[in-house]
Amino acid sequence: MPREIGNPPCYTSYRNLVKDRDNNKCRACGRKGSMVKHIKSQKDYPELRTEVSNGITLCRECYDKFFTVRRYIKFFKSKNINILGL
Ligand SMILES: [Zn+2]
Repeated sequence: MPREIGNPPCYTSYRNLVKDRDNNKCRACGRKGSMVKHIKSQKDYPELRTEVSNGITLCRECYDKFFTVRRYIKFFKSKNINILGL
């Protein structure tokens, strides 16, 4: 089984910190957001896994829509939304 299954407590609090910062709103569409997505993938940047500035709150729909980092960057740049580190 992959080791990623089941998130450690520090990861849960990381998600809550990101959601608090974004007022539980999707940063893409402004609706209520329940998902947290890494801006830089945890595969390429494992050290940023629990870095709040590398997280973004999204609703389920936007999360599914902007699944890859490349699409994210394109989307936020097209909306002139400035995300840390991009
Ligand atoms: Zn959304």
